[in-house]
Amino acid sequence: MTDKMYTSSIEMVEVSPRDGLQNERAIVATADKLTLIEQAIATGARRIEVTSFVNPKAVPQMAGAEQVCAGLPQRDDVTFIGLVMNPRGAERAIATGRIDQLGAVAVTTDRFAMANQGQTSDGSVEASKDIIRRAQAAGLTGQATIAASFGCPFEGEVAEDRVLAMAEAIAEADPVEIALADTIGVGNPAHVERLVTRVRDAIAPLPVRVHFHNTRGTGLANLWAAIGAGATVVDASIGGLGGCPFAPGAAGNVATEDVVYMLERAGIATGFDLDLLIETNRWLAGVMEKQLPAMVGKAGGFPRPETKRKEELA
Ligand code: ZN
Repeated sequence: MTDKMYTSSIEMVEVSPRDGLQNERAIVATADKLTLIEQAIATGARRIEVTSFVNPKAVPQMAGAEQVCAGLPQRDDVTFIGLVMNPRGAERAIATGRIDQLGAVAVTTDRFAMANQGQTSDGSVEASKDIIRRAQAAGLTGQATIAASFGCPFEGEVAEDRVLAMAEAIAEADPVEIALADTIGVGNPAHVERLVTRVRDAIAPLPVRVHFHNTRGTGLANLWAAIGAGATVVDASIGGLGGCPFAPGAAGNVATEDVVYMLERAGIATGFDLDLLIETNRWLAGVMEKQLPAMVGKAGGFPRPETKRKEELA
């Protein structure tokens, strides 16, 4: 018997329309982005990062953020999240009238913060607090993600104390949660367990969200370690698409269907329908004209319907 207590349910944030697409070369049409969002809702997604309000010259895939927002379905039960980096982005997101939550990004190191958003690390903490407060002033909510929490593409190892100090500073602005992101997929489960535990204790009762990239194959192991350490919200991307245009070598997010398969089989409810996710994977692979990284998208779920029937007969 293990003495670790695992939660019976987890909240998932679907990030495919933003993080999933932003690193793809082929520009996805607004209509296809909206179909992806509607299919994500059909599979069970109730929090969706729908776009980012950045300069389209820097991230061409995110041009047309306003058009995506204008086409969002009217769903009171779904929280639409817009990622923003600065006051200008926050004002754009708020002006759409369709975004429920602003997502801010703080970066652990100066070099990555400069590459990603033209700020120092400290500057990105202040910007995140400002964005959260602008969201609240406009009647929305705000959340924040600490990028490169487990390692930086430019500066290497990141001190846990630095991440902890950033989380404590951002918590002062009262976001709905704070996420630890392994932007470049260098984390390992022991590191994740340690850092999630420390941040959880530091910002309680604010929840800890986690955001993992599967760049080196540790995404699901890290996610499981994070849940064991008390993270209650996880980001995932249908098909396992994703990556950061400003982080060399970045690869996809953990795939929604892989996460849902693992958690549901382990007795942790996600609210997602795995069969519909696999169908959506096939549709998205057609749009992207390539096979997507998700494993369960390729292999299918288990047990298969025909074996399930045999078990029931036995
Ligand atoms: Zn990411």
